[in-house]
Amino acid sequence: MLNISKPEANLASRRPLEGRTAIVTGSTSGIGLGIAQALAQNGAAVMLNGFGDPAQIETQRAAIADENDVDVAYDNADMSSSDAIRMMVERAVARFGQVDIVVNNAGIQHVAPISEFPAAKWDSILAINLSSAFHLIQATFEPMKSRGYGRIINVASAHGLIASPFKAAYVAAKHGMVGLTKVVALEGAEYGVTSNAICPGYVWTPLVEKQIEDQARSHNVARDAVIRDVFLKNQPTRRFATVEEMGALTVFLCSDCAASMTGTALPVDGGWTAH
Ligand code: NAD
Repeated sequence: MLNISKPEANLASRRPLEGRTAIVTGSTSGIGLGIAQALAQNGAAVMLNGFGDPAQIETQRAAIADENDVDVAYDNADMSSSDAIRMMVERAVARFGQVDIVVNNAGIQHVAPISEFPAAKWDSILAINLSSAFHLIQATFEPMKSRGYGRIINVASAHGLIASPFKAAYVAAKHGMVGLTKVVALEGAEYGVTSNAICPGYVWTPLVEKQIEDQARSHNVARDAVIRDVFLKNQPTRRFATVEEMGALTVFLCSDCAASMTGTALPVDGGWTAH
């Protein structure tokens, strides 16, 4: 009889992303931070990016490195600058040797009717939520292709698949990201480079927490009512998705088991887009 059991020690010491290196944009908070932690837990070296209090970011960086015994760096590149993105990639290559995994996650939001939507907000949302992904992919794609392994994960949104009023720039950028994901998938397919979009519904992050508090205050309604009647109204599970769920999916997409998954837009939205 075939014995397929393996020594315990081997299983415990083998992490699926050991030796891989990643850049996660917008990873000082929320979904990006959760994804960076999940990649590190699975053995990848990670470059963090995003804004925030420098001391707090350094504490996070050191904790992820120490807890997971991996190299963790931080770069403060502004995702609205293509030059800053290219320099971040140069620093990642200098530190890690190469970049195997790119997670385009940084994003901002602005909510207003089209007639009142500030042109400057449109420009910055398109730059940060969409163009940054193109620049980062462009700077890392050819080396990934020549090594025969690469993973591009674009954090889009349920709003990459459907629209809501008053979110013109965000919905346009996220739909654009889903389109970019498909083009990259086609160009990378023969070279072991996959490209997929994750499309979360509402995820409980500092960004959403702030919106809940703002809406409860401005409409003078209870916090629970805002969560139920506004945020989770269209999310049939009636619960927020979690950053851990986003991290676990990202790790799976980076694994060898996901080598045939490319060009997809994966809803993680509690059934929202099934309506
Ligand atoms: P968040 O505000 O908690 O995190 C955003 C991150 O992006 C932060 O690290 C911030 O510093 C960084 N960032 C913002 N502007 C930047 C810039 N110019 N350059 C570099 N970094 C910048 O938000 P989140 O909820 O974790 O959202 C992360 C991503 O997930 C976004 O793309 C968002 O659109 C998407 N998303 C979020 C939800 C949700 O419910 N939270 C749902 C769907 C999609």
